[in-house]
Amino acid sequence: MTRLRQALRGAGPMAAVLGLAVLLVVGAGEWATRSELDNQWDNLRRSGEVQALALRGVATRYSYLPFTAAQQPLIAELLHHPDALSLKGDANAYLQAINANAGSDTLYVMNTDGLTVASSNWDTPTSFVGQNYRNRPYFRDALQGQPGRFYGVGKTTGEPGLFASAPVVENGRVIGVVAVKVAMQPIVDTWAQLRDPVFVTDDRGIVFLGSVAPWLYKTTRPVPEQQVQQVQFDEQYGARWTPEPVPWQTRQADGQPGSELLLPGQGKRYLAFEEHLPDLGWTLTLTADSRAIALARQQAWALAALASGLLVLGALYWQLRERRLAENRQARVQLELRVQERTQELQQAQAFRQSMEDSLLVGMRARDLEGRIVYVNAAMCEMVGYSAAELIGSLPPYPYWHPDDLARHWSDVDTAQAGQVSPQGRENRLRHRDGHDVYTMFYTARLIDGEGRHVGWMSSVVDITAQKRAEEQQQQREVQLQRVQRVITVGEMASTLAHELNQPLAALVNYAAAARSLAAQGRTELLGETLSALSSQALRAADIVGRIRRWVRQQPQVREPCDLNAAVDQSLALLLRAEARRHGIAVRLDLAHGPLPVSADRVLLEQVVLNLGLNALQAMQGMHAMQAKPPAASGTEAPSPELLLRTAADARFATLQVLDRGPGLPPEIADRLFEPFFTTRADGLGLGLNICRSIVESMGGELLARNRDDGGPGAVFEIRLPRLPDLLP
Ligand code: ADP
Repeated sequence: MTRLRQALRGAGPMAAVLGLAVLLVVGAGEWATRSELDNQWDNLRRSGEVQALALRGVATRYSYLPFTAAQQPLIAELLHHPDALSLKGDANAYLQAINANAGSDTLYVMNTDGLTVASSNWDTPTSFVGQNYRNRPYFRDALQGQPGRFYGVGKTTGEPGLFASAPVVENGRVIGVVAVKVAMQPIVDTWAQLRDPVFVTDDRGIVFLGSVAPWLYKTTRPVPEQQVQQVQFDEQYGARWTPEPVPWQTRQADGQPGSELLLPGQGKRYLAFEEHLPDLGWTLTLTADSRAIALARQQAWALAALASGLLVLGALYWQLRERRLAENRQARVQLELRVQERTQELQQAQAFRQSMEDSLLVGMRARDLEGRIVYVNAAMCEMVGYSAAELIGSLPPYPYWHPDDLARHWSDVDTAQAGQVSPQGRENRLRHRDGHDVYTMFYTARLIDGEGRHVGWMSSVVDITAQKRAEEQQQQREVQLQRVQRVITVGEMASTLAHELNQPLAALVNYAAAARSLAAQGRTELLGETLSALSSQALRAADIVGRIRRWVRQQPQVREPCDLNAAVDQSLALLLRAEARRHGIAVRLDLAHGPLPVSADRVLLEQVVLNLGLNALQAMQGMHAMQAKPPAASGTEAPSPELLLRTAADARFATLQVLDRGPGLPPEIADRLFEPFFTTRADGLGLGLNICRSIVESMGGELLARNRDDGGPGAVFEIRLPRLPDLLP
């Protein structure tokens, strides 16, 4: 539809251009024809004037000659005595002399009968002397006393010429005629040099002079019979002349100064311009080949066609250019539309992506191959408290790295740059800008661009702080539970003990009172019985205690290969670290490299480590409380409280030392430490160490206690367990 409309829109101007081109061609042809025609007519007119002047000049130049000769007495003398030879000779000589002098053809004298009596050509074979010209009009005119003029073909020579005559008058009587013949050939020769025919017609319309020989003596219009007879009688155009029409047709051209001659036989046409010479009774006709006009027209057509062609080509070019411009405009509009649509789509996609990213709870971070952060999403910024502008462009160490885990972060960077990322993810502790710790899981993958090149790393970061807290709380709850459990177990044991021991102890008290009373009364036999009853009650109490120890020993034990270092870690995680933090006491680890395999009940082993650790903390807690008072007078500064856990191994044993900065073990305490129910604490039961030793011994090891030997205060409790060589991987 649009194309059709375009084509129609283009057709209008194009048709106009074509119309203009046709008009141009036609108009140019017309103009050239007219202009060439004007030019030709102009030339003909000018040429006609010149040629008429020349013709008239030739025709009239010699008319004075016969008149002059007729005045000569010699001529009259001769006419009176035509047979006088001397006169004849003189007359001939005279005529010959002035004829030669004037340059005319022949000058001659006739008597009244028309007989030539003397002539300038008397001595030539075509001498007029003796010839009679009485039938010639110029003779007749002169005989009438008039000057005569006549153009005709010579009777003697057969050559055409102009004859002029004058009478020889004596006493009012014509006694003879003098005539001159002028050859017209020279002027005809000049016409022959012209390109186009020139001819002269007489007053009857007979062509008698001209550059085209076949046209001579032909009639341009019908000649009346009487005139025909006159011409034949005069032998004007030869003795055998009969009227024959010229071989052309004349056409009068409207508004033109002349007519057109059409020669059907030759297919030629000429412009014919007539110059009338009324004094001579002649008409001079000059022609111009109208081929020149046709040629001019054709040239004009060719030029105009060329110009039109150029015009049409120009128009075509203009049309094409316009069309291309229109197409370009349309294409540009379409392109702009597409760009707009695409921009809109991109904006929508961008908005969608942005809102998706903003709604993501998972942090996203992209880094290039050098480790420079190139992208972070809102969740990531939120997680670490830094804006995207602060993070993008930064290189490691990143501002959110945890100061205690720097080594680990660097090693992660190295691992990633070595291309060894694990798809399982990695737990990472970060430091939020406001100082709180953020626990995260990092899942890192290679970042591949559209051309498949590895350009960096993309990490998704999940905040697991809440989960961590929940786990910690759970652990704390479990520890609490274990503690309660332990208390319950110990409580149960205590009540059992109380119940079991109550009786023997009550009996012991009674027997002792009885023994004291019997001893006072001096009743020795009864005293002896009472004392043996008393000792049997004591034995029973000892048996009860022994049973408790046995009970402890009989606890089902699951011996398995386990790592002493792992037991330390576990008990720290269970309660120790939390307790130490609660009391503001630092924990230091000095663990042997690699695992320390031993054969043990993992849970009981952890209980032992936990128990020793708690004792150490309790010992330091007392010290700490004491140190909180004003400093002692001694001025010596006690080392700061610290729980040190140290593991080591030799060929046979794996050892764990629990070292504190408590008061240490004075000898009276050191001796009794492992006794059941020995305690120095108000709320103590005094069973912990006893049970611990039993457990360690049940595993084939031993539990030792001593003071620290590094010069500072504090106790060392040491577990020595037989080493299991290379049982663990
Ligand atoms: P309890 O803790 O109930 O007192 P224990 O058998 O664990 O029972 O400890 C017995 C006693 O040994 C404690 O009351 C305390 O006097 C002493 N003792 C234990 N550990 C230490 C220690 N690390 N430093 C000093 N004394 C200790």
